[in-house]
Amino acid sequence: MTAQSTQIHPATPAGAPHFHFQQGVLHAEGVSLEHLGKTLGTPLYVYSRAALATAFTSYLEAIGTHKVLVCYGMKANSNLAVLKEFARLGSGFDIVSGGELARVLAAGGNPAKIVFSGVGKQAWEMQAALEAGVKCFNVESVPELKRLSAVSTELGMTARVSLRVNPDVDAKTHPYISTGLKENKFGIAIEEAPAAYQLASSLPGIAVVGVDCHIGSQITEVAPYLDALDKLLKLIDELAGLGIELKHLDLGGGLGIRYDDETPLAPKILLDKVFAQLQARGYAHLELVLEPGRSLVGNAGVLLTTVQFLKHTEARNFAIVDAAMNDLMRPALYEAWHGVLPVVPHSSATTLYDVVGPVCESADWLARGRQLALNEGEIIAIESAGAYGFVMAGNYNSRPRPAEVMVDGDHYHVIRQRETFEDLIRGESCLP
Ligand SMILES: *Cc1c(COP(=O)(O)O)cnc(C)c1O
Repeated sequence: MTAQSTQIHPATPAGAPHFHFQQGVLHAEGVSLEHLGKTLGTPLYVYSRAALATAFTSYLEAIGTHKVLVCYGMKANSNLAVLKEFARLGSGFDIVSGGELARVLAAGGNPAKIVFSGVGKQAWEMQAALEAGVKCFNVESVPELKRLSAVSTELGMTARVSLRVNPDVDAKTHPYISTGLKENKFGIAIEEAPAAYQLASSLPGIAVVGVDCHIGSQITEVAPYLDALDKLLKLIDELAGLGIELKHLDLGGGLGIRYDDETPLAPKILLDKVFAQLQARGYAHLELVLEPGRSLVGNAGVLLTTVQFLKHTEARNFAIVDAAMNDLMRPALYEAWHGVLPVVPHSSATTLYDVVGPVCESADWLARGRQLALNEGEIIAIESAGAYGFVMAGNYNSRPRPAEVMVDGDHYHVIRQRETFEDLIRGESCLP
């Protein structure tokens, strides 16, 4: 069975070295995923602690002795245990809301390593971030700059500010996750940035410290980053001419991972080129900030789900599973591709399946057109589900959100309980 299963399935799932077959059973590190699914129930998110550390270390190794702050783009996976792990490894955090700020603080993250991004920051969120002492606000518009000035002045504080500029480069990724083009809602157009910086320098309660951009997600090429960097450095030159000196340059996140057959962009490949460009342009002294999300967690997690029914219709074969679009939204939202792997492969006689959930929407699918050998009742793993998985989960169709588990060597820890019916109706009440 072992030999046969390694023939039909790769020994290691794509890009996820901490998930591998042992005696014919898919494991996360030393823990059987079949055991986890049977013991804790499905749908179930399973993360590997070692995979988180490996991904973070790949950044540290690429950074070497350069002055770089990695701020984990935590919207990719904001479970407290995940945040605590990155905090322990020395990471900072890129937050996009007051809720994310509260999570970082609850996980013991260092506020002085927080950058605050997002196009719609509210006054209360600005106040909370100022009081926490965040490193910097990544400001995305002139009205935001004015609101921030008013909030910090009122508190008698100073907000350190970086303007998020939109360098108008094509990240060559899915339109829904491309953010650096002119038509996107994000950032300040680079042509308008000098005027915005002059305004920022003149406003009370604002200290200009940096510049940033984030051009998109799941990027697998170096060129868009280097184009963006080039435009940012030209802007920094221009600002110096206006007497505005910056301390840091933030290149955002966006490095892609392997879902299928992509060749991910390794941090070292990117950073070697970035350091060379900074050196050549006389900016080796600038602190570099990075905001990687997906590349730190995407392949550190899988979603386990149990096959409920195999439904054969004239047009299609459906594997109806107990996970759905409310648990993992990426396929419905971006037509994203996730690998599907039975946790105990048993046969080489495959059928072409659409893997779908029980939710009453045609968009409720997890994988389409896959050759799989499946039995009712067996557990399958949806791969590369560590990023933008649980964080996007909801309760549509009154479905409780899944539990989350962190594997650590031969042990595992439930890091979020499965929701109950009581959780679903908490806060609701009927008329008297
Ligand atoms: C989402 C986001 C990130 C992280 O992006 P990844 O593609 O997951 O690396 C970083 N910075 C900002 C501003 C973001 O919105």
